[in-house]
Amino acid sequence: MTNELDVEQVDCLFIGTGPIPLLEALNESLQGRSVLMVDDAHVIGGAWSSISLFGYSEVENAVHYLLPSETAVTFLNEVIAVPVVRTAGKFRALSVGRRRFMTPYDSPASAFFSLANRRESMLGRVRSLLAGAPGKGSFYFAGGSPSFIARLQSMIEMSRVQIRLQTKVLELSCEEEELVRVTLSDGIVFAKKVIITHGTKIPAYRGIRGSVEVAESLHPRPAAHVLISNCRSVKVRECIFVNDSQLKYVHDVTDFSSTFESDPTKRIIAAAFHPEVSYSYPVIDRLLGELQKVGMADSDSRILDHHWQSVYLPSLDDAALRTIASGFAGRVIPLRTESLSHGIAENAYRWSSLLAFKGALPNSR
Ligand SMILES: Cc1cc2nc3c(=O)[nH]c(=O)nc-3n(C[C@H](O)[C@H](O)[C@H](O)COP(=O)(O)OP(=O)(O)OC[C@H]3O[C@@H](n4cnc5c(N)ncnc54)[C@H](O)[C@@H]3O)c2cc1C
Repeated sequence: MTNELDVEQVDCLFIGTGPIPLLEALNESLQGRSVLMVDDAHVIGGAWSSISLFGYSEVENAVHYLLPSETAVTFLNEVIAVPVVRTAGKFRALSVGRRRFMTPYDSPASAFFSLANRRESMLGRVRSLLAGAPGKGSFYFAGGSPSFIARLQSMIEMSRVQIRLQTKVLELSCEEEELVRVTLSDGIVFAKKVIITHGTKIPAYRGIRGSVEVAESLHPRPAAHVLISNCRSVKVRECIFVNDSQLKYVHDVTDFSSTFESDPTKRIIAAAFHPEVSYSYPVIDRLLGELQKVGMADSDSRILDHHWQSVYLPSLDDAALRTIASGFAGRVIPLRTESLSHGIAENAYRWSSLLAFKGALPNSR
């Protein structure tokens, strides 16, 4: 999908191709600026790109969700024209001894269940309570994140945005008047403005006053996918474990993926664990037990295959982004991306030029 690249100087250079940078890049391009996006991954989408697994393609690479934001839901539906719908089959589970008490995500009881999350501070619990207030419901892409990324890819292909994949940004430096020198793994590009995000990782920054020291922090997000058999009577599609010692969240992502598999009772479940959990067979075995207890697997279901991922949340926080921006006197611009829906809501008012795409694309799945 990479367009022909013949660029030595661009107006805007983006590091990474997560959804929010993609939308920002499209907006810049529609306003007549030359845009180059560089990503060391082999596909676009960053943490939202999908993977191939267990003979299925377009599998959500992790448990994903949209934090509550009416603006983001409206923007995605109305401007990007990717269907975002109220989530069905989403529950919270409270463990009391060997029993699991389930409540629908948007029920009043669910809010009280969320208070049982002992790992959050009291302020965090109140915030969660307000954010996930009963009745508000939860919204997600009808076709999962693969449908969103496919939509963004179509928009990029119709635009003048250039993307260079499998290319690493090694250094940003401010040697040239008004320009940032961007050292890539395979060359050098000069940019009037460089856009960085929470997910940017660059080995060296040399700003206008010399080296910029950036504090990166590591936030492990252990995750697993399991392929399970004999799921005949499952009604629960998503479950938040409010007080489990290992599990945080599980999501049945089978219906978002593509496969030639003809057995609908085989399901792919994505699971997110607490940061300190590390890979072992007992952890995977216990996951099956929990899926059975909350109704996402039947009593005779078995794990056919599994895949563990030790991923990390973005390592730059807001303070680090500000440090870099100030080191480059405004030529390096931070874009806040740590929450997809909130990032969209923050910028949606500026992205009205993206309406140009509405109706110009075939319906997404
Ligand atoms: C597994 C996972 C699941 C998540 N789930 C959710 C969720 O459900 N909801 C939510 O709101 N948020 C979620 N997040 C938070 C996530 O941080 C944001 O949604 C968002 O993806 C961050 O966007 P980003 O573009 O900054 O970074 P990323 O999405 O991480 O993308 C950064 C991209 O830039 C590339 N890159 C970085 N540095 C360089 C370099 N030097 N040279 C070349 N390429 C580079 C990376 O390879 C990557 O492809 C999740 C994060 C992770 C890791």
